[in-house]
Amino acid sequence: MTVDASDPTIARSPGAGGDGLRAELTEWLHANADALEEFRAPADTLSDEVASLRKFQQLLYDAGWVRRGWPVEFGGLGGTVIDRGIFGETLTAAGFPLPFSFSMIEVLAPAVMHFADPRLSEEIIPRLLSGQDLWCQGFSEPESGSDLASLRTIAVPAGDGFAITGQKIWTSFAQLANRCVLLARTGTRESGHRGITAFLMDMDASGVEVRPVRSATGEDEYCEIFLDGVRVPSDKVIGQVDAGWQVAMYVLGCERGVMGWQRAAWLLYRFENLLRDAGDALDTAAAGRVYASLYGFRLRARDTLRRMAAGEVPGAGSSIDKLLMSSTEQALFDLALSALRPQILLGATAQDNRWRSDYLYSRAASIYGGASEIQKNVIAERLLGLPRGG
Ligand SMILES: Cc1cc2nc3c(=O)[nH]c(=O)nc-3n(C[C@H](O)[C@H](O)[C@H](O)COP(=O)(O)OP(=O)(O)OC[C@H]3O[C@@H](n4cnc5c(N)ncnc54)[C@H](O)[C@@H]3O)c2cc1C
Repeated sequence: MTVDASDPTIARSPGAGGDGLRAELTEWLHANADALEEFRAPADTLSDEVASLRKFQQLLYDAGWVRRGWPVEFGGLGGTVIDRGIFGETLTAAGFPLPFSFSMIEVLAPAVMHFADPRLSEEIIPRLLSGQDLWCQGFSEPESGSDLASLRTIAVPAGDGFAITGQKIWTSFAQLANRCVLLARTGTRESGHRGITAFLMDMDASGVEVRPVRSATGEDEYCEIFLDGVRVPSDKVIGQVDAGWQVAMYVLGCERGVMGWQRAAWLLYRFENLLRDAGDALDTAAAGRVYASLYGFRLRARDTLRRMAAGEVPGAGSSIDKLLMSSTEQALFDLALSALRPQILLGATAQDNRWRSDYLYSRAASIYGGASEIQKNVIAERLLGLPRGG
């Protein structure tokens, strides 16, 4: 089975200008191939990986690529989300990992730019784009994952700001981050989603304790964060007090925008790797079904990106993107497991380790960023108008 990368529908850029950027970046990657080679190889430890990807990001920033698609007033070079999608896709297709902070940039920065005081964004977004800063997302708590509106971390007025006390969990890469976009309750216990505020918290503030949690892939990806009277000044409130739910919903929508397109590009790249690595062991009928799913997801992601570039904010419809993303990812790595079973279960080469790690991580795809059952509820209730469950 072969994949035609020039397929006019699946490979076409999601909007005007995309092909030009793709060609320019591809040329730059070729011209700098020797200097960039070190960034292709997977690192042995998380800290080595972070160091390598930070260096990579700095190079990409200095050459202007990371700044494409971001507003000039916040350190970017202008353009639209399509530029960001094409940028990530081109790096992935050329076999490079995306720098570490990219997922957090795409998930959190649009919401901060939209809701925070512009002076705060002017200060912090350029540092995030250049890789000087790394952010984490402090939303989930024990007992408050899907039911995020029930979160119990509290923020009470103190001095010129707030004192925050509580616990977060599953915070990806909190041990590496220097800032956290955090949700805390400023209303009463019963206030639900109406009493939540979004804050930008410095991770080195007094009262913050981070404990990494080892994941099935063997990496310390997520962490618990314990907060004991952590002081956050009022100018680090994102949006209005008690209006953090809008920030949270905006974040979840963005998580399925540029990120969705980039994830689709990465899945296509891994699909092509699988065709190469599996050879005759591949069940071609099953591979065809995965490709069809990938194709559908790419079309959906392309449409979402185009709508975002036209100024639309992803709403409940982004649940469709999330559902397609997780089901496609899991189908792809199920196929990989069936074709590469001995390598994934027992292999010890770098390639085997990568397949194993990607297979295990794909199990989380239907949980992070909102579990699949919740996406189905949103689609049923908010898009199809079906009655709410009990
Ligand atoms: C790899 C990974 C990275 C993550 N990174 C972050 C991060 O950086 N920051 C952060 O804040 N969080 C992060 N999370 C947490 C993630 O957002 C939560 O795990 C997710 O929202 C689910 O919440 P939960 O784990 O509490 O599960 P629960 O909400 O307890 O759900 C358990 C199961 O019950 C189902 N369920 C729950 N409610 C309903 C319902 N009403 N109807 C039908 N089924 C239901 C769910 O679908 C799920 O299958 C991450 C998670 C993973 C796996």
